[in-house]
Amino acid sequence: TDAKASNFLRQIIEKDLAQGTYTTRQWGGSPGDAAHHQAGTPDPAKIRTRFPPEPNGYLHVGHAKSICLNFGLARDYGGVCHLRFDDTNPEKEEQEYVDAIVDAVHWLGFGWASDFGGKKEDHLYYASNYFDFMYRAAEHLIEAGHAYVDEQTAEEMRVNRGDFGKPGVDSPFRTRTPAENLARFREMRDGKLADGAAVLRAKIDMASPNINLRDPAIYRIRRATHHNTGDKWCIYPMYTFAHPIEDALEQITHSICTLEFEDQRPFYDWLLERLAEGGLLKAPPPRQYEFARLNLTYVITSKRKLAQLVNEGKVSGWDDPRMPTIVGLRRRGYTPEAIQLFAERIGVTKSDSWIDYSTLEGCLREDLENKAHRGMAVLDPVKLVLTNWAEAFGSDDYLEDCTQPALPHSAIAEGQTPPPDRVFKIGKEVWIEREDFEEVPPKGYKRLFPGNVVRLKGGYVIECAGCAKDADGKVTEVHAKVIAGTKSGTPGADSVKAKAAITWVGVADGVSAEVRLYDRLFSDPHPDAGGKNFLDALNPDSLKVVTAYVEPSLAQAQADQKFQFERHGYFVADRTDHGMGGKVVFNRVTGLKDSWGK
Ligand code: ATP
Ligand code: MG
Ligand code: MG
Repeated sequence: TDAKASNFLRQIIEKDLAQGTYTTRQWGGSPGDAAHHQAGTPDPAKIRTRFPPEPNGYLHVGHAKSICLNFGLARDYGGVCHLRFDDTNPEKEEQEYVDAIVDAVHWLGFGWASDFGGKKEDHLYYASNYFDFMYRAAEHLIEAGHAYVDEQTAEEMRVNRGDFGKPGVDSPFRTRTPAENLARFREMRDGKLADGAAVLRAKIDMASPNINLRDPAIYRIRRATHHNTGDKWCIYPMYTFAHPIEDALEQITHSICTLEFEDQRPFYDWLLERLAEGGLLKAPPPRQYEFARLNLTYVITSKRKLAQLVNEGKVSGWDDPRMPTIVGLRRRGYTPEAIQLFAERIGVTKSDSWIDYSTLEGCLREDLENKAHRGMAVLDPVKLVLTNWAEAFGSDDYLEDCTQPALPHSAIAEGQTPPPDRVFKIGKEVWIEREDFEEVPPKGYKRLFPGNVVRLKGGYVIECAGCAKDADGKVTEVHAKVIAGTKSGTPGADSVKAKAAITWVGVADGVSAEVRLYDRLFSDPHPDAGGKNFLDALNPDSLKVVTAYVEPSLAQAQADQKFQFERHGYFVADRTDHGMGGKVVFNRVTGLKDSWGK
């Protein structure tokens, strides 16, 4: 497809493959740290990518883009993609998030097992398993004169870092000897210094136009229990230091990240060069490439802000069907296929832009169009009484089977057996949509009004007679006469011309259902842009719950099964609540047509 062809990352990978950039690599790694990376073993994976989430929240649709990209490239080029938990930040990380991330990546259709030449490997990693190596790498930098322990206050450090166009000022601790630094760093490690009392900094260039090269901090003191290493460490590596090392130890070839890390690339390269010089890592090193993050209209993709929505009760949880989290999208009725299609369609670019939400919904409609079985549901029911029923069929209690295809002809692929027809019953009373009757029809109205003739879809043609109303003038019942001999699918079906066909559900076999009508969570297409408070943009009508009637085939749905409710859109049986205590619960996934432009 076009998006695939224009994916600049594919061009880079294809060039690397053609030139054999990674076929002769002889990585060192360090024994014990990463047992799976053996020096000198030619790597049978042609490329290695990684998806490196921090387990500090649930993944969202932006992460889905990154997952589809990294796992998709590995799949397409005979490589492997690692799932790596970037767990270098002990305070914020939890096992619950680790488990949720594993689930999300699997659900999206990807895995991290490889089987090269019969050698099966599982490529799930934790950055925290490399803490020993990272510590040694830090000591190496100190010994080589490339790092020093700085004991300025955080404020002094910030001020002395300078700003754009204004060079930084050297720390008074910058001239410490390697021996002094090593001793002090070990004191940091051994808990002799208070949290925040010192940091280890790379010694690069305090006048660099790239602020990230002005002696970035690489280790800090933080007494916090880590979910994996417990209380073993009171110093933790900074992300910018840890990440290149993680990539290198895992022999990542193409380290793909979002554009905001572009300015970090010189440090990434600097660090790996220094460690290669010291013999800790061998060339060729992984390379970092940046792509534009996903910005989706009407959506926020910040874990912190999503957590706020959950914690403040603005939504029912991480998996609320209005949330752009992967669990939210799943519960809303999104399919992995639709999300993969979306990622492919939006492609990968080097400049930030906004993707219209309708693009995501369009991919889902495309996926469900031929898969989701059809069914009738009445979301705003009023009773229709066929007053001449007994006259026409001999008894008020007479019921007759109607059948309709579960999928339209166009949805059945050649050679595919169509699913069994749906069967439902028509009788004297049926539920219709309140909006399908007008006592005084507006111009052009073709549905029920006194004297008009319409078809009950899949059933009979009827002629409207009028209605009954309550004291407030609200319609309580619509009246019509059934025209015998006009049943759909019988020879007389076309003997009477109907002006319209309306959807309905039988009173005799219809089942009451809770239907959750979801709309966009935010009314503003850019809810958190330009310093706006995203909570102000919450759509007060993002959830409306109605009691509907659904035909029997829908009432029998399995949790998570998707349907097209004729004329209303796509609906999914709620993963959590459907079937609980015999309840029938559907979520609206999306309408039949794009409504985002309106
Ligand atoms: P957040 O800011 O929401 O916490 P993050 O980038 O800090 O997100 P990580 O867990 O570090 O979250 O992200 C894992 C990977 O997902 C990173 O490689 C990151 O580049 C990618 N990613 C995160 N958000 C997006 C997005 N909106 N579009 C594309 N990729 C994203
Ligand atoms: Mg991050
Ligand atoms: Mg973040």
